[in-house]
Amino acid sequence: MMLPSSPNSDQRTARQLETRRSSRARMKLVERLKRKGIRNPAVLDALEAVPRHLFLDPEQFDNAYVDTALPIGHAQTISQPFVVALMTEMVLTAAKNNRRVLEIGTGCGYQTAILSLLFDKVYSVERILSLSQRAEKNLALLCINNATLQHSDGTEGWPGHETFDAIIVTAASDNLPQPLLRLIKPDTCLIAPIGAPGYQQLTTLRNQNGLISSETAEAVRFVPLLSGTCD
Ligand code: SAH
Repeated sequence: MMLPSSPNSDQRTARQLETRRSSRARMKLVERLKRKGIRNPAVLDALEAVPRHLFLDPEQFDNAYVDTALPIGHAQTISQPFVVALMTEMVLTAAKNNRRVLEIGTGCGYQTAILSLLFDKVYSVERILSLSQRAEKNLALLCINNATLQHSDGTEGWPGHETFDAIIVTAASDNLPQPLLRLIKPDTCLIAPIGAPGYQQLTTLRNQNGLISSETAEAVRFVPLLSGTCD
């Protein structure tokens, strides 16, 4: 991952300072994530590598490495780093292969960037056009070129019906929509926050000989999985 070069030396110096400051903040964040129970070294490395502040508006930069969800506009949020790390760890534990992952709910693209370091190819769908466009820019800025973004309704799955090794749903629902359940093939795992608004449990779903099994983990609070698309 490379940052694009700045046009002049003042900007380059400012960027270098910000990069150094933020990399120290990321190291501290990763220490905190370890204390909270994240163990997978590949996940910790990915969270240390991805500059979360670049996914936020400048007025949020100071909070970028606080372990909390933050607003990104349109009544949506960038997920809490601990929850991103935990879901990524769950996905890596459950997936048989690390080739293709589908993310439902791109937001500003932070989780997409983390997944891009751990899977060969990331597919991510977002129902709000301006967020999808913003994520596209953020990923381009970081020279991430193994993620394909789509502005569409993720409750319908992925247009083209690809098969995936893993699916990660980053918005909450009580019952997963049928098109998503149909994407859980024998070698596919799906991780999603399942439950009522305000309280969900991270759940791993697998296909065992045609039957879907589920295993629950931590309680979380995600924005809702909504149908349809908007600008
Ligand atoms: N993965 C993001 C989380 C963003 S919050 C991160 O890394 O921070 C959840 C996102 O899911 C929101 O941007 C919301 O617009 C989106 N979303 C909700 N319902 C959706 C749907 N049916 N299809 C696609 N995206 C959806």
